[in-house]
Amino acid sequence: MVAAIINGKEIAAKKRLEIAKMVENLKENDIVPGLAVILVGNNAASRTYVTNKQKACQELGMNSLLIELPEAVSEKELLGKIIELNDNPKFHGILVQLPLPKHIDEKKVIETISPLKDVDGFHPVNIGRMMIGQDGFLPCTPFGIMILLEETGISVAGKHVVIVGRSNIVGKPLGQLMLNQHATVTYCHSKTKDLKLHTSQADILIAAVGIPNFIKAEDVKEGAVVIDVGINRNESGKLCGDVDFAEVSQKAGFITPVPKGVGPMTITMLLYNTVKAASESIHR
Ligand code: NAD
Repeated sequence: MVAAIINGKEIAAKKRLEIAKMVENLKENDIVPGLAVILVGNNAASRTYVTNKQKACQELGMNSLLIELPEAVSEKELLGKIIELNDNPKFHGILVQLPLPKHIDEKKVIETISPLKDVDGFHPVNIGRMMIGQDGFLPCTPFGIMILLEETGISVAGKHVVIVGRSNIVGKPLGQLMLNQHATVTYCHSKTKDLKLHTSQADILIAAVGIPNFIKAEDVKEGAVVIDVGINRNESGKLCGDVDFAEVSQKAGFITPVPKGVGPMTITMLLYNTVKAASESIHR
């Protein structure tokens, strides 16, 4: 079987058109959705992510502000900036680009962002709301994966979803979103014994490991849906996922490529969350 490609770039473009319309509607109410991004230090990858997020905001006619702080900034000063932004009505979403320097407590930073402006969906309040199926901000990568599946016409209800990876930003919340939509979920991680036993039973297999070409054809059930979250570089420096695309695409039913798979959806859902925050600010 040769897998159908789930084109994340196309689905993201379609969603961004819908979000652009939401921005237009808000502008009629004199609200311009605004995202404030804080970048600490000079990590090249973080800078690229931040630039992409800002560009995406501008393309949709949203406001974006980049606050750059030096690597040596104190935790107190960073928290102070967040508190200022919490009170600034011009910015509906606040994002602190991770990772942070070691002297800053990431947990404290996340908890200082108002849950009402937590467009990354990392605040414990939003994570808790997601757990019990209440409205809040969903973490962007898992949210984007749910939309990819929905737009491809793949229902998760009753399916066996196997997730390899249990990070707080991808694997764990994704499992919860799948469960909320009635999937049967298995989590696998670095301590899982006989990984293949689990992955080869998946109707929907999610790879969020961070190891290039980790999932091979032998790990996948014939016809399965395979979602590759990984963003890695192979030995020749080329971008690649956690799934060995060349072999798995010959066995799976659907597969996301890297790039142009999950990646474009992450920023799209950040834009969506920011517009949602802006529209909810009207009622406060
Ligand atoms: P992480 O390093 O926080 O977590 C990796 C997970 O993989 C851990 O839970 C670990 O238990 C598991 N793991 C490690 N080795 C394993 C093994 N041998 N067998 C089974 N499980 C194993 O990573 P993360 O932040 O969740 O990111 C995972 C990948 O997804 C990375 O490549 C990252 O760059 C990428 N990512 C992509 C996007 C996107 O927008 N596409 C967003 C976030 C992360």
